[in-house]
Amino acid sequence: MYKKMLNYKFRLYPTTKEQELLLEQTLDCCRWVYNYFLDKNMSEYDMNYILTELKEQHPWLHKYYHSKMLQMVAKQVAAARKVAVGRLSYRKDEDFNAFTYNQSGFRIEKDKLVLSKIGSIKIVLHRQPVNVKQVTVCRSKTGKKWYAVVACDVLRRLYSTIIKYTKPAVGIDVGITKFCHDSDNHAVENPQFLTKMLKPLRKAHRRVSRRQIGSNNREKAKHMLARLYERIHNKRHDFLHKKSAYYASHYDLIFLERLKVLNLTKNHRLARKILDASWSAFKNMLQYKANRVIEVEPAYSSVDCSRCGHPVPKSLAVRTHACQKCGAVLDRDYNASLNILQRGLESLMMLLPVERREVTPVEIAQQRSLKQEAHEFIRG
Ligand SMILES: [Zn+2]
Repeated sequence: MYKKMLNYKFRLYPTTKEQELLLEQTLDCCRWVYNYFLDKNMSEYDMNYILTELKEQHPWLHKYYHSKMLQMVAKQVAAARKVAVGRLSYRKDEDFNAFTYNQSGFRIEKDKLVLSKIGSIKIVLHRQPVNVKQVTVCRSKTGKKWYAVVACDVLRRLYSTIIKYTKPAVGIDVGITKFCHDSDNHAVENPQFLTKMLKPLRKAHRRVSRRQIGSNNREKAKHMLARLYERIHNKRHDFLHKKSAYYASHYDLIFLERLKVLNLTKNHRLARKILDASWSAFKNMLQYKANRVIEVEPAYSSVDCSRCGHPVPKSLAVRTHACQKCGAVLDRDYNASLNILQRGLESLMMLLPVERREVTPVEIAQQRSLKQEAHEFIRG
């Protein structure tokens, strides 16, 4: 057994206008704190210290808002500073959409999320969260929907210690033209949700820019635009969830390439960015759904022949792998995925101990390592 944090997302339904307003105000307050710390180059510790002073200066902070939640804003600023290039930017209302209760100040009842200083909000629990450590309340981009992201500290079985690998292994090659192609010669086309929506998106963008700044109509147009983006996001996530669930349920061992560097022209940059995001989301989903996901170093997987190892260099446009040495002819991505599978299995074999020695049960419990899993896999 090992511990793992899992996030579950539940829909929230504020029942009254007042309740929704309360949530909005909480967001505003957190945003105020965030922007307050924006240009003060302080450590998280110092920010927490200043927070107590701030609460004395502004009693409403203390009275209406949960103190741990405010501390989480300091954490957020510190985290943002770590990854930011240059200065942190001021957050406007529409850029600030979440606040967090950590360890305390929340309680989940039958169909209610009870938050300190806010009250109880209707929640739809599609599964029962256990051992909840943190609750983040999020407002959707359109500003109309509310969610609770609930972080649970769960105990998970190390599957391989209990059951042997019964399902096969697979290598997956992700790409631009296709979303992926696996070593069982199963290809998944790229759904291109964004490309399909480009026309309505351009139209919506134009509508926003034509409306007068500050007008009601501009707000409406902005809302329409946000809804379009939300819809694309939902579709993409649905797609990724389905594909990752497919692989997680059909295979026990999944091999992926660590990182793919491709040379692309400027026009492809946006598409590439989106694909990158999709791939990493896909990988993430696989990692928590599947038994074992192993990343393989990317080395000539699309060049080498999967049957004989002979290198067959080819440009991106060449879609077929044809080996002059052994005569193998197959799809380029299929060939790559076979290489990934083979390399993955080889990398597990390398971890195998040369000599088998007796190990004590304590050792077994301590070192749940790839070595043992490789053993079990290879011996069936
Ligand atoms: Zn060959």
